[in-house]
Amino acid sequence: MGTRAMSKFYITTAIPYVNAAPHVGFGLEAVQVDALARYHRQIGDDTFFLTGSDDNSITNVRAAEREGMPVAELVARNTQGFLELHRRLDIGYDKFIRTSVDAIHAQGAARLWTAVAVAGDLYRKDFHGLYCPSCELFYDENELVDGLCPEHLTAPEPVQENNWFFRLSKYQDQLDDLISSDQYRVIPGTRKNEVLSFIRSGLQDFSVSRSTERARGWGIPVPEDPTQVMYVWFDALSNYITALDYAHDGELYQRYWVDNPARVHGVGKGIIRFHAVYWPAMLLSARVPLPTTLFVHGYYTVDGRKMSKSLGNTVNPVAMVDKYGTEAVRYYFLGATSPTGDGDFSIAELEARYNADLANDLGNLVNRSVTMIQRYREGRVPNAPAPADEDAALQSAGATLADRVGAAMDGFDFQLAISEIWAVIGSANRYIETQAPWKLAKAEVDDENSRSRLDSVLATLAQTLRLVAVNLQPFLPGAAAEILDQLGVGDDAFRPSWTWPVGVLVSEPKPIFPRLERTVTA
Ligand SMILES: [Zn+2]
Repeated sequence: MGTRAMSKFYITTAIPYVNAAPHVGFGLEAVQVDALARYHRQIGDDTFFLTGSDDNSITNVRAAEREGMPVAELVARNTQGFLELHRRLDIGYDKFIRTSVDAIHAQGAARLWTAVAVAGDLYRKDFHGLYCPSCELFYDENELVDGLCPEHLTAPEPVQENNWFFRLSKYQDQLDDLISSDQYRVIPGTRKNEVLSFIRSGLQDFSVSRSTERARGWGIPVPEDPTQVMYVWFDALSNYITALDYAHDGELYQRYWVDNPARVHGVGKGIIRFHAVYWPAMLLSARVPLPTTLFVHGYYTVDGRKMSKSLGNTVNPVAMVDKYGTEAVRYYFLGATSPTGDGDFSIAELEARYNADLANDLGNLVNRSVTMIQRYREGRVPNAPAPADEDAALQSAGATLADRVGAAMDGFDFQLAISEIWAVIGSANRYIETQAPWKLAKAEVDDENSRSRLDSVLATLAQTLRLVAVNLQPFLPGAAAEILDQLGVGDDAFRPSWTWPVGVLVSEPKPIFPRLERTVTA
């Protein structure tokens, strides 16, 4: 598809703390990143998609203490919930890294630590500060909202320790240059400005270790200092390279990190500071290449409040998939949610969009087209005569759809990509109304011209549907496969130059999105 030169694409989700079951915000991120990975695979990029679990957080230690079980057991159990969510949402990752289990992670984090130490960027210091254990972050007094963590609305804890510190302040000017020049691109621009103003407010060195005692011995040991474990963010951020075997300069590390022009992180807006400031500074210090792009999505609110595990107002994404199906939930995340802004999560909206966009617009188009090809041509997609004027607009809209979807995806705008696809679906539905194939079918009995017109209309519909399905593949892979299946064509339909194979029959029509009875009123 498209005319882009083949390239490479490495993309990651953030790795969530697995102190509880996944919430809907992580489902959004996983689906966004999955759509990007599927899109880049489709256009021929050598693509690698990494996700995983952040096991070494103190939050996990505390959750395990509350539940009276060993931490390793708690994270192993909760990780299953994330793997289950990935299955339900059809997330096609290449690797799932577990930071407490995979040996190459601990080895890689230790290598990164040592590289930073060799650069002279670590020192011991006495410290006291206000710590939010849910964020795993020290806050300045002036960053708190009414004395509470701005993310979790809980009171931070006073902590006094002697820890290892990282010389973040040393990298202030370099980070400013890299981000303002887009060498490390932060998307959207509002987030880039937020990062730059944080950097320009003055960067403080930050503590990168914890006492082994306070961490209850859980975490990655600091090399050559058994009294300390690594600060969980130091270890967690390093997963983006450790998973590729940075520890041993592995083949994947060379291929997808060092020798690759597209190293992309997808994250939520709450953890920009870690990804746009701490992480690139650690890499600069260790003389490791930086990521190229940070894509930042917003948060869902429920009744105007941030959805979070600590606030207890989460929506269970697995239950949503049980009720509405994988494709409907993916559609809501990608087509009905701003890719970078905040949105209020609404089941009523999900149901409304399901019925309007999926059941009516797309489902009916597939059903009517396949039914007519069955009824009027015994399931055979006819050879189209030279296109008439009536067909040309729809044919050209279908043929150029991949270019418009590609432009939207280059800008990380899933919603725009999907609206481009739905514009073609809308045109195809209007085309059926104006061409009225059922009238042509009556007239063709004794009119050669009507017979030829009906061939054209059915062929145009079949080709348009095929192109809709191909373009839909990164977003709704299940629905795309179902449409291609009903059209009787398979994966070879993804090739750019393609003609309808002789002798292929469309299947019996089968609704791909049965209408929902409304269970919630808008
Ligand atoms: Zn917090």
